[in-house]
Amino acid sequence: MREIQASQITQAVRDMCIEANYSLSPDMRQRFETAADQEESPLGKMIFGQLKENLDIAQQDQIPICQDTGMAVVFVNVGQEVHIDGDLTAAVNEGVRLGYEEGYLRKSVVRDPIERENTRDNTPAVLHTSLVPGDQVEITVAPKGFGSENMSRIFMLKPADGLEGVKQAILTAVRDAGPNACPPMVVGVGIGGTFEKCALMAKHALTRDVNESSPIPYVRELEQEMLNRINGLGIGPGGLGGAITALAVNIETYPTHIAGLPVAVNICCHVNRHAKRIL
Ligand code: SF4
Repeated sequence: MREIQASQITQAVRDMCIEANYSLSPDMRQRFETAADQEESPLGKMIFGQLKENLDIAQQDQIPICQDTGMAVVFVNVGQEVHIDGDLTAAVNEGVRLGYEEGYLRKSVVRDPIERENTRDNTPAVLHTSLVPGDQVEITVAPKGFGSENMSRIFMLKPADGLEGVKQAILTAVRDAGPNACPPMVVGVGIGGTFEKCALMAKHALTRDVNESSPIPYVRELEQEMLNRINGLGIGPGGLGGAITALAVNIETYPTHIAGLPVAVNICCHVNRHAKRIL
């Protein structure tokens, strides 16, 4: 049984909170720059230019890309042959606390959804753990801004709605989001499972490399078709019109019940933050 200290997890989470907020991951940066070259509208090109300048300043000056530094969503895959010496949840939350304090990141979390007192250190994280084979711990930190989170949707479709129903659900969510999700967006989609499973898949899909496609042939085609159709909506960078409304559509699927077809659409802005470490 391999030993991993809780303090190693804390350090990794701290570093990733800062890293993800100061600079886009290489896959996002590359996709962003490719899309900027593809934009044809003069206004869209100008917005891309401003967004790129903002990204460059954040990276050079080591400051956050956006004032909304997000709620820290953390995925931890724990190998079954690993023993963590300490409390995993506490270790993750301590990493978030340190990262947001020492990285001068905005504290955006309230302790209670109705009483709304700020926790003042951006804790707690939203932590998703999975047990996996092996002797490693894989941690993904994805600080999520709420301009785009608020525009996300779940659709409990009927099986008869089929693939066409799924396409319409995705287009409806993106069209309704419009400029409020700070486009160009990344669209995470979960299809199947249960109510909560499809939402979790949609969130997890946002952490996938935006230059990778689904390994499932029909899903891969659906990702490409939806990216083309979303860009055909003309919402454009900053919602001011143009050819690039989305940078990527990442879809995950899971078996579901004979009576249902859940679809979740988790929208992220162009500041689709994610950082990963393997301990
Ligand atoms: S949606 Fe994204 S770009 Fe817009 S304010 Fe939130 S984090 Fe910033």
